[in-house]
Amino acid sequence: MLDPATDAPVARVPRGGAADARDACDAAARAFPAWRSRPARERALLLRRFADLVTERREDLARTMTREQGKPLSESRGEVAYAASFLEWASGEAERVYGETVPASTADRRILVLRQPVGVAAAITPWNFPAAMITRKVGPALAAGCTCVVKPASRTPLTALALGGLAMEAGLPPGTLNVVTGEAGPMGDAILSHPAVRKVSFTGSTETGKALMARAAGRVTRLSLELGGHAPFLVFADADLDAAVAGAVATKFRNMGQTCICANRFLCEEPICGEFTERLARAASALRVGYGLDEGVEQGPLVDDAALAKVEDHVADALSRGARLACGGRRVDMGPGFTRRFYAPTVLADVPADAKVFREETFGPVAPVRSFRTEEEALALANDTEYGLAAYLFTRDVARVWRVAEALEYGIVGANDGAPSTAQAPFGGVKESGFGREGGKYAMDEYLSVKFVSWRI
Ligand code: ADP
Repeated sequence: MLDPATDAPVARVPRGGAADARDACDAAARAFPAWRSRPARERALLLRRFADLVTERREDLARTMTREQGKPLSESRGEVAYAASFLEWASGEAERVYGETVPASTADRRILVLRQPVGVAAAITPWNFPAAMITRKVGPALAAGCTCVVKPASRTPLTALALGGLAMEAGLPPGTLNVVTGEAGPMGDAILSHPAVRKVSFTGSTETGKALMARAAGRVTRLSLELGGHAPFLVFADADLDAAVAGAVATKFRNMGQTCICANRFLCEEPICGEFTERLARAASALRVGYGLDEGVEQGPLVDDAALAKVEDHVADALSRGARLACGGRRVDMGPGFTRRFYAPTVLADVPADAKVFREETFGPVAPVRSFRTEEEALALANDTEYGLAAYLFTRDVARVWRVAEALEYGIVGANDGAPSTAQAPFGGVKESGFGREGGKYAMDEYLSVKFVSWRI
């Protein structure tokens, strides 16, 4: 495990294989009968304790996260709080898994609907949010009565292992929450072919999501897939430009642009496009790039060399097609002891629609801007992608908020809001961004089966 900012070793972590993943699934299967039959109130209290411990250890967890992933400490602290909020929410939901009775069509029948835990639930999680992507899966799964196996991204195992330790400290019974680290392919195969695993929740690339979906066919394993995004950010001429710029910075440059809901392309109505671009460039240039553990830093390194190479390729491609550099567009030299993965927050103006930055997920601190003339044109450009995770619009026109929010083919819309994610709301995409919802009451359904009991009396 190397620090992406310095390549200094952070820790040694077991490189597990298929057998370890199978062992974890076996342990979860053994723990399942006792966990599912535990009163919901007890599960709720254990989850609450788990949440409280995550909050108590916030500083330690945040420092671990910054070291293994690179994001600034302030963002890591924010993520730990966000991660705890999913456990808190799930703790409340544990006691609200209600069934139903349905009126029957004959006098001698009663129809009951029960909601029961699916079984062992596995979480395969990415490196960009090493804590929150885990708790928003295992929170509702444990609340529903499932036991869990977590396979974190190979790049960020430490936060995951720390969370596993806190779950044990909170008093979750052995086998209830298992964390395994190691080789993604063999471990993923072992999880998807294990007979006790009835659900896999995955967050990661669309490519890996598709591969998992094909493998899930083998045992008809239920899936939730939260995959790539290519979020449009629409700014209309009547928008509050201060709010639009603040929203743009929040969504674009958080985690150095390495989030699946971060705005990937900016579409601005012609009359204000120049001014918006200029203001965004000013705000982006003011962000402090540095080592994530230093207080006040707002932009750390990109996670690895491949991430940097993609960013450089997208910027070079846009410039070669006629885009103009408004700010950034270069690496930041941090001096001796640091890697060369630091990249200046970048704004590109006049970007043609066929540039790579406008077609593919960049996953880096690059904001490409182009103008539009009409709402119809803006919507056509916004929806012209196979992705459908998040979209943003800024306008003061209330009717337009309704019209555009309804017409955007996305699972999440931020209306005058650059940071829509929160524990009580449904998070997830449409089209090739995946299916299933995380957060709020919706998350519970992903870990529950509906059983219908027809009762003759
Ligand atoms: P990214 O690394 O961009 O987040 P990936 O889709 O490569 O996206 O990885 C997301 C998660 O999926 C990680 O935990 C990774 O280890 C895991 N993963 C990658 N390839 C496979 C695979 N073939 N089978 C199962 N899990 C995989």
